[in-house]
Amino acid sequence: MVVEDARKHQVELLSQFAAKLSLSCKGLDIELDNRLAKYRNALRKGVDFQLLEPFINDILGLLKNQETKQMALQRELNDTVLDAGKQLQKVKGLPDDARRTLRHLLDHELNNIQSNHDFVPLLSKLIVIYHQALQAKLSAANEAEALIKPELAKQLMLLANDLVLEDESAEQIKSIKNKITYNDSVDDLLDTAIDIITIITRNMSKERQSAQSFLISLNQTIEDLHHSIVSTSKHSESLSAEYETLNKQIESKIKNLHKKTQDATSISALKELVEEELKSLSDDLIAKEKLEHTERENLLASFNDINSRIGHLESKLTTYKQRLNEQRFKSLLDGLTKLPNRAAFDERFNHEFHLFDAQESDLTLVVIDVDHFKSINDKYGHSAGDKTLQVIAKALQKSIRKSDFIARYGGEEFVMLMTGMSLDNASLPLEKLRKTIQAIPFKFKDTQVEITISIGATQLKKGDTPIIAFDRADDALYRAKNEGRNRVCVSR
Ligand code: GH3
Ligand code: MG
Ligand code: MG
Repeated sequence: MVVEDARKHQVELLSQFAAKLSLSCKGLDIELDNRLAKYRNALRKGVDFQLLEPFINDILGLLKNQETKQMALQRELNDTVLDAGKQLQKVKGLPDDARRTLRHLLDHELNNIQSNHDFVPLLSKLIVIYHQALQAKLSAANEAEALIKPELAKQLMLLANDLVLEDESAEQIKSIKNKITYNDSVDDLLDTAIDIITIITRNMSKERQSAQSFLISLNQTIEDLHHSIVSTSKHSESLSAEYETLNKQIESKIKNLHKKTQDATSISALKELVEEELKSLSDDLIAKEKLEHTERENLLASFNDINSRIGHLESKLTTYKQRLNEQRFKSLLDGLTKLPNRAAFDERFNHEFHLFDAQESDLTLVVIDVDHFKSINDKYGHSAGDKTLQVIAKALQKSIRKSDFIARYGGEEFVMLMTGMSLDNASLPLEKLRKTIQAIPFKFKDTQVEITISIGATQLKKGDTPIIAFDRADDALYRAKNEGRNRVCVSR
């Protein structure tokens, strides 16, 4: 029956929608998670739409709560940051420029932030660094300044590494990272800290807008959906009352007809009677059919309505998720080779470095550079060069352990982190990796071409910073190049 099918379909759609909603709201609120699970269960069991009403009301309430909770969190965050900033302003002898910038940040940018994103801990750290830098500047003794400078530069660098942003901000952070050196004056470092704070605050308010508009539109659509479902239910309820009356009417008419037929005394009277009663009966039957038709139409219409609302919300969910995750994820992948890119590597290296620092587990850092790659471009064209990079990237990825992490660091350079691997144990697999690339049968313009890589490796040791370890791996690579390329060199 069409009406039944439509209803079944509607329930299915709602279940799917609820499943998607659960997925995208997961972790937002445990109670919301539970409620959505119950709602899905009820749908699965085929509960009447009207019995779903309390569920939907609960979910709506929880979503509204979520909004309020978020706002309270933001306020708390704002207060904390403002407090920290005010403390900073109280520091005596703050240079005028710094004071002005700080006031601007506190008055304009921070005041507008309402996000509890993971930027917050970074921001607190930054403020601490800023404070330290100021103290160094204020304690006129040059010696103290000289001592604290490299440490601050290192901390700023680590912090910048922790920041994974998109698009324009990613570029800005990158150029800030490139500018930081151990020789920076305290003034330079203060400027850098302010630059990073500004970028973070801007991203926080972007993030807030996105999250808020998502919650608002989610609420709106669920509310619409709710109304539409309730009105369908009410409508079909009143229809079925009408339907019942009609049925009773038809039944009594048939009874009546039966009785009158028995009471008729002549054929002509009988004929007249039958004609009259039958006419009225058939009118009722037509009305009944119409009613059935209307109900079907109504259900189908509401079904289409709900369908399109769900579609609308789904596309909103997708964009929101894309904004939050995919974009972020995408910006960590290299477009050409689909390997993790430099930003992804920096993030991962930072993470592994902290683990190493805490546990002193074995961690080997490897840099890989394609030999004479420029000549591939020169001889066979840039697109042959691109294709070559893709093939090499794929072969590298395929040849390493699952626990190894490889990224395209730039141009024809790759970097790899081998966790739980000592330098001594790494030599053999690295040698194998080198041979694997050498064995790839490249062919350009009918010429067989052998492409090789040079590899430099080092193991992290106590007292290292990411930069120091990287320099040591680079040294090893430099030696591999100088000693004739197509080889593995290590630095201890
Ligand atoms: P070496 O053995 O000393 O490393 O020599 P090399 O030619 O590989 O080194 P060099 O650094 O002088 O040149 C690297 C070249 O890689 C320069 C550039 O044209 C090329 N290259 C970098 N990125 C890409 C890319 O994305 N696509 C293509 N086709 N070429 C690239
Ligand atoms: Mg190179
Ligand atoms: Mg090269």
